[in-house]
Amino acid sequence: MSIQIERSLVLVKPDGVQRALIGETIKRFEQRGLKIVALKMVKPSIDHINDHYPKDDKWIERLGEKGFTTFKELGIDPKEVMGTTDKKKAGEMVRKWLVDYMTEAPVVAMVIEGIHAIEMIRKIVGPTLPAKAPIGTIRGDYSVDSPAAANVQKRSVKNMIHASETPEEAENEIKHWFSEEEIHDWARPDHKVMF
Ligand code: UDP
Ligand code: MG
Repeated sequence: MSIQIERSLVLVKPDGVQRALIGETIKRFEQRGLKIVALKMVKPSIDHINDHYPKDDKWIERLGEKGFTTFKELGIDPKEVMGTTDKKKAGEMVRKWLVDYMTEAPVVAMVIEGIHAIEMIRKIVGPTLPAKAPIGTIRGDYSVDSPAAANVQKRSVKNMIHASETPEEAENEIKHWFSEEEIHDWARPDHKVMF
């Protein structure tokens, strides 16, 4: 791989699979010129998902913070919805709901390769919260959820898809989901006229 070629882990989450949006999702990466180098359907265990998401305080606090930002905008007291104003406590709750969400049906896991793939894929996917995701992104076109709806129902925000955020995250996540033998080295002839 040249310096500019990156790999990212993408998951079509259980809501995407159950809504029959696997093909629609994959199409968007392929048409952009990205290459799928590994692909499988998996019914993940609780442990597998628990180890997929980071466990450090910083990540957990960020998870809590994402919901709090929405509450603030809507003038909702976080204590009313989450029972706490503590980012870490809220993040821990959301993390538990996230594990429930990710284990309720199979997911489709992929490794996708391409130029600046990590950033490019995040752009195609759109920001975390569907209600804020621009039209044209996967989350913006196919999902509608918000912490204001999800947290009241004590569940995770349903946003269709997961994609690695950083090169470090991508490396860990790819190792967590795929063995070396499951990742394929192949060429897209159309790439010769693309870059
Ligand atoms: N999540 C949630 N409530 C929130 C923020 C996130 O349920 O307020 C869920 C959502 O499904 C998200 C996942 O937690 O995709 C992981 O959060 P992260 O901040 O890593 O977002 P992502 O990288 O998926 O955009
Ligand atoms: Mg993330």
